[in-house]
Amino acid sequence: MRQVYLDYAATTPVKEEVLAEMLPFFSLQYGNPSSLHKFGYTAREAVDLARERVAALIGAKASEIYFTSGGTESDNWAVEGVAGAQPAGRAHVITSKIEHHALLHSCAALEEKGHSVSYLEVDPTGFVQPHALKQAINERTCLVSIMFANNEVGSIQPIAELAKIANSAGIIFHTDAVQAAGNLPINVQQLGIDMLSLSAHKIYGPKGIGALYIKEGTAISNFIHGGSQEHKRRAGTENVPGIVGFGKAAELAARNLNDHIKKTTTLRDYFIDRLLADIPDVQINGSREQRLPGNVNATFNYIEGEALLLDLDINGIAASTGSACSSGSFAPSHVLTAMGLPIEQVYSSLRFSLGDFTTKEDIDHTVSVLNATVKRLRAFSPFTQE
Ligand SMILES: *Cc1c(COP(=O)(O)O)cnc(C)c1O
Repeated sequence: MRQVYLDYAATTPVKEEVLAEMLPFFSLQYGNPSSLHKFGYTAREAVDLARERVAALIGAKASEIYFTSGGTESDNWAVEGVAGAQPAGRAHVITSKIEHHALLHSCAALEEKGHSVSYLEVDPTGFVQPHALKQAINERTCLVSIMFANNEVGSIQPIAELAKIANSAGIIFHTDAVQAAGNLPINVQQLGIDMLSLSAHKIYGPKGIGALYIKEGTAISNFIHGGSQEHKRRAGTENVPGIVGFGKAAELAARNLNDHIKKTTTLRDYFIDRLLADIPDVQINGSREQRLPGNVNATFNYIEGEALLLDLDINGIAASTGSACSSGSFAPSHVLTAMGLPIEQVYSSLRFSLGDFTTKEDIDHTVSVLNATVKRLRAFSPFTQE
């Protein structure tokens, strides 16, 4: 049976070139980068090169890149590190209702400690409104954190404008760029970004490794305590193979960016056009234009999304009901809910995310399986309009 993977926003395969660079660091080059001998120096050089490559992907200095265990830790550190440095119960943080749970749950933890958090609404296509950010700022606001691009509906936020509002009020601006990296050009200096989260496994690198960019001079307390690794800011012996793989993945992502955007956007638009043309009662969530190259989020009215997802899986097609974290728990998508979709449409929505190994044949196959499955499920649906 044909296998079609359309869940690149959940994770991506490690590219061959990435794996090849990582392999020696599991066995032959096993030194600890902190050690003062040849084994150590070899590992240190590899980590330094990776840091430069990750920095280059976002227009930062290598000294501003701190390796972490992934996007989740980076988000947690950004929020709890900045707010946690404020006097107890004094911090005010502004974020949005459509952030990843790594960010939202960190904010919930802050609230439990007595700090306050404002969650900005989004418009029906999934965009934060800059004027709403302006209004939410108060004299205790120490951090604004708005994601670069959303993982469920692909909305690319007006980051430059939002960062400018925070910058001009003297407030630290953080963005979760886990989905944006490798999919959009990013330059932290031009955009006025103070902190930015990255994850390797969303850009064809390994799982369990990520980074937090922290602009020089940004006030943030440490999150993981111990040795003096990562310029004394993030303790723990470095995940050298992971860091090396992340570096290679970042280098490939930067090199392939334009081709990747062109090819993936073309396939995405073809997929959307075919969905709308071939299957009745389908709507696309999010914006047609300001959208991640590989993101398609569609509502198949009158159908239970989970049932459709399982039928697709039986047919060898991998998609998602939204964020991987919420599938299995049957929780309705907080993103689609924030966009104002009625609850039955939230439950009828699926996310397809395309990537570097997606082909036109994959899309054609998916549309034909979807067409048949949707027809069959609707025949059983009590909601189907005849
Ligand atoms: C995947 C993802 C994360 C979490 O990254 P991990 O490396 O899996 O911890 C955070 N934010 C967004 C937007 C993501 O898509």
